[in-house]
Amino acid sequence: MRFLALLCAGMLLFGLAAESQAQRVQITYRGAEYGPESPAEEAAHAEGRAADLDEVDRKPVFLAVDPSASPDKREAMRARLREIEASARANKTVELFMSPIGGFQRNPKTKEIIRKATQQELDAHKTHVHMTITP
Ligand SMILES: [Zn+2]
Repeated sequence: MRFLALLCAGMLLFGLAAESQAQRVQITYRGAEYGPESPAEEAAHAEGRAADLDEVDRKPVFLAVDPSASPDKREAMRARLREIEASARANKTVELFMSPIGGFQRNPKTKEIIRKATQQELDAHKTHVHMTITP
């Protein structure tokens, strides 16, 4: 059930961000092998209520902060990540959202956003978007 809820929320979230263009996102379900996520994020993966997203529109999320990428490509990825975060902020089942350029945490009971991502968290998510869904 949790997996289905996560999948539905993920499809809703990334579907909303997709607008009318042909889009493809890659959602992977995994734990800590990709990067230094927090114990809470790792636990959410283990519980099956978190997903990491490496690519948007078949391009690596890392483009958003890649100093060797062209400014156009970097800004295009940053714009897509801002759209996806806006969708996540509008979706009250998203408890934690982290990307290379922004993020937030929501109180799972009140559904209020209680804080933004710290610089340390942004640094830990340079290569992917993490999303935790409230069960
Ligand atoms: Zn993650």
